[in-house]
Amino acid sequence: MPAKVLIVEDEESIVTLLSYNLQAEGYSVVHTASGTDAMMVMQEERPDLIILDWMLPGLAGIEICRQIRARPETKAVPVIMLTARGEEGDKIRGLQTGADDYVVKPFSVSELVARVKALLRRAAPDRIADVLEGNGIKLDRVAHRVTRFGREVNVGPTEYRLLEQFMENTGRVLSRSQLLDGTWGRDAEVDERTVDVHVGRLRKAIVRGMETDPIRTVRGAGYVFDDEN
Ligand code: CA
Repeated sequence: MPAKVLIVEDEESIVTLLSYNLQAEGYSVVHTASGTDAMMVMQEERPDLIILDWMLPGLAGIEICRQIRARPETKAVPVIMLTARGEEGDKIRGLQTGADDYVVKPFSVSELVARVKALLRRAAPDRIADVLEGNGIKLDRVAHRVTRFGREVNVGPTEYRLLEQFMENTGRVLSRSQLLDGTWGRDAEVDERTVDVHVGRLRKAIVRGMETDPIRTVRGAGYVFDDEN
């Protein structure tokens, strides 16, 4: 199945140009011009990547991005934000809100298509895989089961979601607030120390005897899941 790209953009000429070029690369393309409809289209179409304009009628791009990141079913979908030239403050805000990449208009179509490809390549293997693997651990999303070096690992639901988030982001440092958002949801009333408690429980569950601890604490930044130690 070809990867599906959702374009949320109200400038028709850009939509036409992007659709044409993405389809030529073999992607399936869906589109909405309305910020207000964007989340509904997301739910219905389940795109693999979103190209999101900053300035939209209805809901602004940045607010849509925030909502995408806040919902468990859409939080992992890569987002490329589009904006007008020279809005450096927008760029920073966009990336803080959780956009994966950022393109300034007017942009080169081939460059944007290259970024789409790169993001899908980076995102797809772990985000769509039924089984995540690393450091001897297998997390089976279908069976909802975790093993390490073949032995069963018993983890609670929170530790399971934490581990899943770690393994989707192997090698990337995740801050406590990213872990909070990803595992508990953005609206949860949980403080960052709770994250430490559950990371501790997760470590206890997955590390036996002399086995390596795949979760590394990065002082002042958060935690990272290492594929091999
Ligand atoms: Ca626009």
